[in-house]
Amino acid sequence: MFEDLRDLYQEVIFDHNRNPRNFRVIENASRAVEGFNPLCGDRLTLYLNIVAGVIEDVSFQGSGCAISTASVSLMTEIIKGKTESEAEALFTQFHRMTTTEGEVDLEAVGKLAVLAGVKDYPARVKCATLAWHTLDTALKNEGQTSISTE
Ligand code: ZN
Repeated sequence: MFEDLRDLYQEVIFDHNRNPRNFRVIENASRAVEGFNPLCGDRLTLYLNIVAGVIEDVSFQGSGCAISTASVSLMTEIIKGKTESEAEALFTQFHRMTTTEGEVDLEAVGKLAVLAGVKDYPARVKCATLAWHTLDTALKNEGQTSISTE
């Protein structure tokens, strides 16, 4: 049973890596932030259109390993239509899930749970969290245009 679940999780990661969702540029995005993980070489630009506190549209461009690509693809799916504070709450849950710091609300993270396994691979945690740190910067620091995980 547990093995089946692992296979399912891997299949979701492979799928999002092969066919990333929301992989495009948003012209005139209200926020655009570039995230870089020098440990692995993952690089992405996150585009957000925020209207009255709601993430009306979100997309990304860039290149990285399977974990980072699947993570940003899944993130764009789950945060689209959410408010900024809902997205921040998800960031907190995702951070806990990948670092095991505190309780995780599994219902809230939903499909993101496929990435929970990275906590067993410390070198891959930054691959999985790059998208979320980039989002966090985009939401909290208007005007900042890039972040690095180092
Ligand atoms: Zn990576």
